[in-house]
Amino acid sequence: MRIVVLAGGIGGSRFLLGVRAEAGPAGEPAESVTAIINTADDVTLHGLRICPDLDSVMYTLGGGIDPERGWGREKETWTVKEELAAYGAEPTWFGLGDRDIATHLIRTRMLDAGYPLSAVTEALAKRWQPGVRVLPMTDDRVETHVVVADDDQGTNRRAMHFQEWWIRHHAQLHAEKFVPTGAEDASAAPGVVDAIAGADVVLIAPSNPVVSIGTILSIGQIRTALAETAAPVIGLSPIIGGAAVRGMAEKCLPVVGAEVSAAGVARLYGARRDGGLLDGWLVDETDAGTSVDGIEVRAVPLWMTNVDTTAAMAHAAIALAQEVGKRA
Ligand code: GDP
Ligand code: CA
Repeated sequence: MRIVVLAGGIGGSRFLLGVRAEAGPAGEPAESVTAIINTADDVTLHGLRICPDLDSVMYTLGGGIDPERGWGREKETWTVKEELAAYGAEPTWFGLGDRDIATHLIRTRMLDAGYPLSAVTEALAKRWQPGVRVLPMTDDRVETHVVVADDDQGTNRRAMHFQEWWIRHHAQLHAEKFVPTGAEDASAAPGVVDAIAGADVVLIAPSNPVVSIGTILSIGQIRTALAETAAPVIGLSPIIGGAAVRGMAEKCLPVVGAEVSAAGVARLYGARRDGGLLDGWLVDETDAGTSVDGIEVRAVPLWMTNVDTTAAMAHAAIALAQEVGKRA
């Protein structure tokens, strides 16, 4: 079964551990799984090109992630970051670990030499062997910018990179909107459209619906491919009982006018029969009874506490895909 997963960083990579386990024998690669990863969090700092979501996925699936932080390398040290700060070199708020920097150096050098991000990602994956095919959503530069009110009256506005809003300001500045700059002219990365067209099922990971999945959907070719594929599209809610399970996704939903609930996210994505994204939607048992027009909803445990519980989520999503697929 050919499985395509749309995913962001931390939620996305945890979910992919479960999909990989569900799709193949333990410890073996699942060649039939393609992960399409958000790249709109990408940022250039100190001359280095950093791709937080791709790195989270690569390190998590490759066994190199820091399990407590959930991002960056295990056994990390911070000497370069401290030395940069001693020079007063801005920005100082981004977590740039010594081991992690090696990844960014190789990526930056390859990009500067003219390789597209998809080729760089493939090269880095030779070391990490993630066991699924990892594709960036696009090779073009797309970056989420956040428009914030700069004063209490809300008369002055300024835009900043999503990372600055998220990490430096902890999503505390009042955001008026998110702008995926560059998305309008961006193409899907090689392999993305074909993977969606040839899929048996498309899964939407329990990732941030606005700045992870929403930005993947901002690429026109990807939206079209999802609308046209014969594969059922099944999403998993990142919101359980009215709150984001980890992280601050609840800060993003109101900015786009969506309710912070499992139903609110499903309505934001929309029913495929009405021009939206979803055929089916998994919510946590806490949210049993959720119903959304035009979308088949099932309630199952959605806490990704370990690989087994996460594989069971992937299993339930595939079962729902088969159910809605048969009916179509
Ligand atoms: P980021 O790019 O690192 O912010 O990560 P993602 O966008 O992939 O995922 C962040 C989302 O994952 C958050 O909105 C969380 O609500 C969601 N999430 C994290 N852990 C869990 C979990 O155990 N279960 C569910 N259902 N969602 C989770
Ligand atoms: Ca992210």
